[in-house]
Amino acid sequence: MTYHFSANRVRHFGTTIFSEITALAQHHNAINLGQGFPDFSAPAFIKDAAIKAIQDDVNQYAPLPGRPKLRQAIADKVLKHEGRTVDPNTEIAVMVGATEAIFSTILGLVDPGDEVIIFEPYYDSYIPSIEFAGGIPKYYTLQAPDWTIDPDELEALFSDKTKLIMINTPHNPTGKVFSLDEMELIARLCQKYDAIAAVDGAYEHIIYDGAVHHSMANIDGMAERTVQISSLGKTFSVTGWKTGWTVAPPELTTAIMRIYQWATFSGINPLQEAAAEALITAEQTGYYAELGQMYHRKRDILMNGFNEIGLPAIKPYGSFFIMVDISELGLGTDVEFCKYLPEKVGVAAIPPSAFYVNKSAGEKMARFAFCKKDEVLQAAVEKLRVLG
Ligand code: PMP
Ligand code: GLN
Repeated sequence: MTYHFSANRVRHFGTTIFSEITALAQHHNAINLGQGFPDFSAPAFIKDAAIKAIQDDVNQYAPLPGRPKLRQAIADKVLKHEGRTVDPNTEIAVMVGATEAIFSTILGLVDPGDEVIIFEPYYDSYIPSIEFAGGIPKYYTLQAPDWTIDPDELEALFSDKTKLIMINTPHNPTGKVFSLDEMELIARLCQKYDAIAAVDGAYEHIIYDGAVHHSMANIDGMAERTVQISSLGKTFSVTGWKTGWTVAPPELTTAIMRIYQWATFSGINPLQEAAAEALITAEQTGYYAELGQMYHRKRDILMNGFNEIGLPAIKPYGSFFIMVDISELGLGTDVEFCKYLPEKVGVAAIPPSAFYVNKSAGEKMARFAFCKKDEVLQAAVEKLRVLG
């Protein structure tokens, strides 16, 4: 491409890997286990609530922090699930997806030259957000197959320049759920080096095998320095709704709002009304437990398929992705493999090197999403048998 009008800050960016692989899957009519979006219906209770909100003319701007009813429902959820009280008027900000929440958290809290620690592989939007803020990313590489953390190696990344550490749990793409020990280690380091912990919980309710989503803010001394990020997208199978929020102390919440007020001003009002209804209904019906059970079943369909075929797959405990070691298949790097797969096998997957700065660390794997109908997962397994 020749550049004439584009700003320098965007010239080195390509299209996201998710858009690229979805386009490739569509082109080859392949089963798309790449981009993580459900192919099944969202619950009727959330769809009905959105339709009703629009019919009831909840169609003008939402208040900057979000609809009061939704902020109250979020505060109630925090109380129920974490046992802590947050002020819906000063500690909650609702915006356009976890992506905007991540962007606003980083832009609102990180100054040029500040260091931001992230775990690699990382969700791809973290790096551009840090770059736009002028921050300096510091990487802790999680190693397959256990994705464990060495306390000394992690501490070596902290310094008096550290402003923030991003923790994505349950983790995309590895399926790691951070243990209480790991959260406590990070909490201790945040307090020692006076840093903020931002917890991206986009998959907070997609956990199984008895895994627990631990609250960072509940660890002693952390409530004042924690930003919790949540999204409606994965929890209610409505990724296109782009509605997410942060829960953080007042000073941090105000800083976060200062960014998105100039990007979008406010989130999407009728969807916020539907979100409030959905959070209330979910508590009344045991929805979150059912969601975990459904994903447990889907995880097992795909894991059992990989095991039968003889593909070395790493078992996830949360999120809806499975990482598979492709290094023995003789089909090249992850990028080569993921280009080959839709055309020759009829299945699409994501090359995880997109989530690494140290590309070679991700080149041996492919990420498969299992947020798909059971029969679609079974059909994908049948097609993947040629790799066995
Ligand atoms: N964080 C992680 C780890 C994700 O996988 C995603 C994609 N769902 C997001 C954030 C973005 O969420 P949203 O679609 O709500 O912007
Ligand atoms: N979070 C989804 C994934 O990891 C996709 C998000 C996107 O398309 N930007 O697959």
